[in-house]
Amino acid sequence: MKSEHSNRCPVCRGYKSMSDTTFTVDLGFGVVVVRHVPAEVCEQCGAEWIDDATSKNLEEIVTYARSKHSIVEISEYSTLSKSKMAS
Ligand SMILES: [Zn+2]
Repeated sequence: MKSEHSNRCPVCRGYKSMSDTTFTVDLGFGVVVVRHVPAEVCEQCGAEWIDDATSKNLEEIVTYARSKHSIVEISEYSTLSKSKMAS
């Protein structure tokens, strides 16, 4: 039997809903901040889940920031995905 995708939080059993979050990574020499990243967020405890496609995009942003060696890189997720489509 295949278990169906649960809409409940595995941490606290609260309900998850589609929202957005701020993604931050500390690179050591600097930080990367990406705002308005689409994510499932638990309404009760605030735990977040980012899907594979989104986390792949975030990885590219981190790689880019690392190559630039920027101390602080702040991005809007929606702007980034749009500009990527154009190029
Ligand atoms: Zn929860």
